[in-house]
Parts: sequence; C-alpha cells; structure tokens
Amino acid sequence: IERTFSIVKPDAVKRNLIGAIYQRFENAGLKIVAAKMVRLNAEKAQGFYAEHEGKPFFDDLVAFMTSGPVLVQVLEGEDAIVRYRELMGKTNPEEAACGTIRSDFALSLRHNSVHGSDSPESAAREIAYFFAEDEIC
Ligand code: ATP
Ligand code: MG
Repeated sequence: IERTFSIVKPDAVKRNLIGAIYQRFENAGLKIVAAKMVRLNAEKAQGFYAEHEGKPFFDDLVAFMTSGPVLVQVLEGEDAIVRYRELMGKTNPEEAACGTIRSDFALSLRHNSVHGSDSPESAAREIAYFFAEDEIC
C-alpha cells in the first residue's frame, strides 16, 4: 500500500468539478485518506513548486495556483503514485490519453486540473508539506 499526494487545481474547483474528479479517484480504487480545501499564497505555492523555480513558466504557474481555492488530498492504494499519474494523463491535455482526467477536464498545459506526485520522494515531501501525520486516516 502506497500513498500519493494530489491537488484539484483552481481551474477545476472554479468549474464545479471536485465531485467528478473525486469520483475518478474512487472508481480507480484510490482511497482518499486525507483532504482539505485551502487557498495557497505565493510563498506556499513557490515552496511547493521549488523544483521549477527559474523556469519560464514558474511565475505564471504560481499566479495560477494562487488564483482560487484548491483541494489537497492524500490518496492511498496499491502502486498509488504510478496509477494516479496514469489516471491523470500527460501534463498537456492535448497529449493525454482519452478517458484520463486531464484529457476529459483540463483546459490547457497550465490549467490542467490536477497535480500528482511523480516519485516516492516527492510524495513524502508533498504530503508533509500540507498534512500532519495525525490528519491522515
Ligand atoms: P504536476 O506537477 O502539476 O502534477 P506534472 O508533474 O505533469 O504536473 P510538471 O513538469 O511537474 O508537470 O509541471 C508542473 C506544472 O507546471 C504542470 O502541471 C503545469 O500546470 C505547469 N507547466 C509545466 N510545464 C509548463 C509549460 N511549458 N508551460 C506552462 N505551464 C507548464
Ligand atoms: Mg510535477
């Protein structure tokens, strides 16, 4: 059993897609073991995406992620990290496979509806960035 970290991004929250996206998690057998709605400030978003600091899209990414509330959650299941990456589809929705969350809901490369950890190391860091251990069921 593995845990991964997920965000429902502002574009999806604004379009009332929280329920539809949570349904995808549950249909895939990924258990939601922690969840909360938060509004990121610039410092929190910059720290979360520190690996992308200095890239040309960084400032716009931070502006987008602070543009409205997001849902952050911990998903648990067998091979959760890789299976959730597959469920999301490629970063760019135009390249994402049919039936993936990004193919079905994302608007653009930036406004791509969901985040998911890309490795066990990033999952551990990202979960701890948002949740205390006693907030995870
Ligand atoms: P995420 O980390 O959000 O799950 P990812 O791992 O598929 O997505 P990353 O390479 O980590 O993709 O990029 C983080 C986020 O930055 C992307 O989800 C996207 O919103 C944005 N992004 C990445 N590359 C670009 C780009 N070239 N132009 C605009 N935005 C980008
Ligand atoms: Mg990433």
